Amino acid sequence: MKKVYFITGSQDLYGEEVLLQVAEDSKVIANYLNKKIDGVEIEYVATVRDELSCVEACKKASNDSDCIAVITWMHTFSPAKMWIKGLQFLTKPLLHFHTQANEKLPYDEIDMDFMNLNQTAHGGREYGFMCSRLGVKREVVVGYYEHEEVIAKIKNFIDVARAVDFSKNLNVCMFGSNMREVSVTDGDRVESQIKYGWNVNYYGIGDLVAYINAVTDDEVNAKMAEYNELYVMNTDNLDAVKEQAKYEIALDKFLTEGNFGAYTDTFQDLHGMKQLPGLATQRMMAKGIGFGAEGDYKTSALNAIFCEMAKGRKGSTGFMEDYTYDFTRGDEVVLGAHMLEVSPDFASTKPKIEVHQLGIGGKEPPARLVFDGVEGDGVAVCMVDMGNRFRLICASIELVKQPKEMPKLPVARIMWKLKPDHKTGAAAWIYAGGAHHTVVSTALTVEDVKLFAKLTDTELVVIDENTDLYKLEQELNMLDLMAKLK
Ligand code: MN
Repeated sequence: MKKVYFITGSQDLYGEEVLLQVAEDSKVIANYLNKKIDGVEIEYVATVRDELSCVEACKKASNDSDCIAVITWMHTFSPAKMWIKGLQFLTKPLLHFHTQANEKLPYDEIDMDFMNLNQTAHGGREYGFMCSRLGVKREVVVGYYEHEEVIAKIKNFIDVARAVDFSKNLNVCMFGSNMREVSVTDGDRVESQIKYGWNVNYYGIGDLVAYINAVTDDEVNAKMAEYNELYVMNTDNLDAVKEQAKYEIALDKFLTEGNFGAYTDTFQDLHGMKQLPGLATQRMMAKGIGFGAEGDYKTSALNAIFCEMAKGRKGSTGFMEDYTYDFTRGDEVVLGAHMLEVSPDFASTKPKIEVHQLGIGGKEPPARLVFDGVEGDGVAVCMVDMGNRFRLICASIELVKQPKEMPKLPVARIMWKLKPDHKTGAAAWIYAGGAHHTVVSTALTVEDVKLFAKLTDTELVVIDENTDLYKLEQELNMLDLMAKLK
């Protein structure tokens, strides 16, 4: 199981008795967090009292591949010059827990001994200054450790830290390259690896075709039985469905063997295949494998990372594309879909397997899952390469029920409303250089994306109910200027 280290700051001045109490209280808090937070072990590592013990604890966290984050707590005052070297060694996401062993002040009993032992208000500021001075990106969580909103914040931090750890170890497979002439899906793969850890590599589609040709009839029949159980078989063209079953089996093997968490393909490079992977890719996305169409490696990586972040939460997460609008005044809505590849995680109705002609790519009609989408609050997020840095753009959106049936639309779809209103939200996205490919999630919030951006030191533009176009354009100018100064 992955671990989060709990390190408590103190110093030698207070004597052994106080330090023993500090360690005791640290264990109580770490144990309490352990009881309340699943999927990760919170381990009290040490009470650090000087530079050497800081360095040891921070090195230990940085060297432990199971450690995804560090929580630090200043129970007492901890002179922060002793933290400099340690923090310089720390490579894991940091949460500064500004809490106390006590919720209330013992007004009748309080004396200077109590004050000396319980002084996070004092010690947290000294430590916080050093983090700011060193430019350490961290999350500060304030409040009594048993309060549920405090626990909720720590849980969110751990979800994001786990996603950052996942990102550092993510392999992305590109079948073919970026769609010819398309700009926003492209990017600097070397920089992506330096900054986020993504190992993005190209494979000829023929490498996958070899796996497709090796799929047996028994494997295909088992997969068809699975489809029949999960979905409505709304086609007589079972051969077309079997073709996608082969693709799913082959993709599963290829990606598992290569330890890939995400992949891309492109309809311009399907040599040896009869169809564009539709149903097959939808199935892979439902397993949490990231996908980006048209060679969009950035969105495929982001898709996998956000699925990891959303693990254990309610809601849907997947690759998406802004396609077309309903411009009815006051009832504007975005229709999001793709040619085929929409994750069944978004399904609000039992998906139907259908086979239809695809007007692009010049291949046989592909099988795909068709369904209506879920409703609820969510985010749409994209990553663009601005040349001298990556930018994340996050829109707060509301997924809504489609106003009318769309009986002739042969593809899964979701619909959503923009904030603060359609015109402002869409213009803001376009001013920010936002892509047509996104990851949409109803499991994640703007706060999660903000934290991910902070911990990965990525520029972020948020579009929400407070967005004002004039201020946004000023913000974008500032961001351009800051990037030039760096
Ligand atoms: Mn696309």
